[in-house]
Amino acid sequence: MAKQIVKERMLIGGEWIDRKESIDVYDPGTGNLIATVPAATVEDVDLAIAQARVGARKNASLPVHERMRILHAAASYIETNGDVFARTIVLESSKTIREARKEVKRCIETLRISAEEARRIEGETIPFSQMPGHENRVGYVYRFPVGIVAAITPFNDPLNLVAHKVGPAIASGNAVIVKPASVTPLSALRLAEAFLHAGLPADVLSVVTGHGSIICDPLVKHDDVRFVSFTGGYETGKEISRKVGVKKTAMELGSNSPTIILKDADIKEAVSATISGAFGVAGQNCIGVQRIYVERSVYESFLAEFILKTKQLRMGAKSDETTDVGPMISEKEAKRVEHWIHEAKKLGATVCCGSKRRKAFLEPTVLTDVPKAATIANQEVFGPVVLIEAVNTLAEAIERSNDTDYGLQAGIFTGNIEHAFKAIHGLQFGGVMINDSSDVRIDGMPFGGIKGSGIGREGVRYAIEAMTEQKVVAFNLQRRM
Ligand code: NAP
Repeated sequence: MAKQIVKERMLIGGEWIDRKESIDVYDPGTGNLIATVPAATVEDVDLAIAQARVGARKNASLPVHERMRILHAAASYIETNGDVFARTIVLESSKTIREARKEVKRCIETLRISAEEARRIEGETIPFSQMPGHENRVGYVYRFPVGIVAAITPFNDPLNLVAHKVGPAIASGNAVIVKPASVTPLSALRLAEAFLHAGLPADVLSVVTGHGSIICDPLVKHDDVRFVSFTGGYETGKEISRKVGVKKTAMELGSNSPTIILKDADIKEAVSATISGAFGVAGQNCIGVQRIYVERSVYESFLAEFILKTKQLRMGAKSDETTDVGPMISEKEAKRVEHWIHEAKKLGATVCCGSKRRKAFLEPTVLTDVPKAATIANQEVFGPVVLIEAVNTLAEAIERSNDTDYGLQAGIFTGNIEHAFKAIHGLQFGGVMINDSSDVRIDGMPFGGIKGSGIGREGVRYAIEAMTEQKVVAFNLQRRM
């Protein structure tokens, strides 16, 4: 029996809207068409901004307890309908059912943290009398919402990365316009349903589906949009940065994260953590482990164990509970990574295991001896491939880890506190994980990178800081009120 193709609508100012032009959404695992979403136009973006102007005023005037109630209610709705949310993620993205359930849990957590952080949007008093002549002034700082937030999101966490922008935006009294990735727009639409169900005023949230190359320009350039929160690839981020003009931005971009394994580490634990970090979501994770530097005396044993465990990973259907690795987001992307593997091999790299491709499925691949000239040694691979190299010293491992245009997160396994602190100070990254791989994130921690990995931090409280402005208030007590 032919599967039903769902004709989805987008949400603009509380109205579910259809358009003649649409975008096809495919299951990357089967290649089947699963849904269509409207292909929004520039006029749709203008409409969403006009609605958001109204929504921003409404949300800014909502009492904090009401914003908290809405965020908690949306989180509870997702919890009650967890299976629908997980299956939506499985259907449209690369994630296996087990990975999708984790993302749903994290989304609930992100929204609950947003509710809690809403009550902690605080200011401070200013000691004016520090300056001679200002003894009669008292004052303070309070934070007010920027107004309209544009949230542009990628495909790899189609629910929780949207929640990381929508939750803080609502908590801090803003209106928010989401532009989800065109290959995975469905989870964002389900999230919007949760907020409508929770009683969010209609104009506060819009989810505009459409091609980024067409509708993002008018969105990010519009003077009324005061904050552009982007998560995605470096090149797209650079293009948006050139266009936004004078306004706040957050850029959460890619990386090719390293993890260091020293001889004094627990090697078994290091293998297990780095395998999970390298091949989770078929390697399509911004903090996924791409480069592993192992101290020479334990290199051979680490490599042998790593290859053994990698070969045991089960690649297969996303909805199968026993599947460890699903497909990449598209056959085109899998072909790109396959091409990078072939290029590295031609330049002298050794393929220790994996590398075979069937449509969008690419086997978990381990490479060694990859020369610096290979694309995969420098660029973010965003696929199930890891490079493992031997190093002589911690200093060499740190130097090679830093030899990249990126700087999101890094990890190190060691049993020596001195080595850990050398790594903390030497590694040029937004986060350094000790006795863990680079792939560690909880939703309440500051998250973001340096260099080509971006500008700013997410992690609810830090996103709220970015989505609010400070206003200084001073009373002159000498003057009569
Ligand atoms: P992408 O191609 O850069 O797309 C991200 C978003 O930008 C999509 O919504 C896309 O819309 C939109 N877009 C495309 N072209 C645009 C343009 N010219 N102007 C404005 N927006 C445009 O990224 P992706 O392939 O979806 O995601 C993978 C990347 O995201 C990786 O590099 C990964 O490391 C990064 N990432 C970073 C983090 C982090 O927190 N640091 C987290 C997750 C992922 P369309 O889909 O319509 O093209």
